[in-house]
Amino acid sequence: MKYIGAHVSAAGGVDQAVLRAHELEATAFALFTKNQRQWRAAPLTDEVISAFRAACEKYNYTSAQILPHDSYLINLGHPVTEALEKSRDAFLDELQRCEQLGLSLLNFHPGSHLHQIEEDDCLKRIAESINIALDKTQGVTAVIENTAGQGSNLGFRFEHLAAIIDGVEDKSRVGVCIDTCHAFAGGYDLRTEEECINTFAEFERIVGFQYLRGMHLNDAKSAFASRVDRHHSLGEGNIGKTVFSWMMKDARFDGIPMILETVNPDIWKDEIAWLKSEQRSAG
Ligand SMILES: [Zn+2]
Ligand SMILES: [Zn+2]
Repeated sequence: MKYIGAHVSAAGGVDQAVLRAHELEATAFALFTKNQRQWRAAPLTDEVISAFRAACEKYNYTSAQILPHDSYLINLGHPVTEALEKSRDAFLDELQRCEQLGLSLLNFHPGSHLHQIEEDDCLKRIAESINIALDKTQGVTAVIENTAGQGSNLGFRFEHLAAIIDGVEDKSRVGVCIDTCHAFAGGYDLRTEEECINTFAEFERIVGFQYLRGMHLNDAKSAFASRVDRHHSLGEGNIGKTVFSWMMKDARFDGIPMILETVNPDIWKDEIAWLKSEQRSAG
């Protein structure tokens, strides 16, 4: 069973995100549990928490179908101690919000070395940041997203993801989310079925499908291996529709949230319907 949806707005409260996902006929969704561009947010109230939980129950979303995303400001590999501490505190807060909402996954971008420390050092800091946060929480898995490798962002090579996982003590609570646009911009080709097979064989070899906890389904405005992060609607960018159709027929992508972050929310409903129909034609 594939869980397919989009990163919906939580404007008006996190419970409103559930309603928006339902309106898209989505079987998965992503959301921010706080404003993604601010460090601090008011704590979730009991009313909001119960409204969210009730909406999930009403519209049949379990935590396995929901992939919350943390704030863009957080850098778990920050080279400067004070800034690193700030990011670690904010990440812990994000995990705790997930705990409160009954969510079991938290998707985040690994971090950036800002040209001030070596890659290896940065990857170690990220793993340590995850260890600290997991130690203080229960039941939520840290889901590392691959990046396009823009600027000094790490996570654009599968080896980076593997190195972070290697440094995490509790392997049962760490996983990865693969964004197709980021993979393509990071140098993993997905334009033909053969390239899809090759790319995900490499993923299996370096990281392993046992760690795959989510997918971001995006076509790319950016060019292959450009290290530029620009999403596009499915089939309208440089990747094309093949990879999305191919994934819908592959059981290794079952049971995880597969989330659109494509550029035109007006066609999300159509994109979701198309993905679902590709799944069925697998026979
Ligand atoms: Zn993404
Ligand atoms: Zn992106």
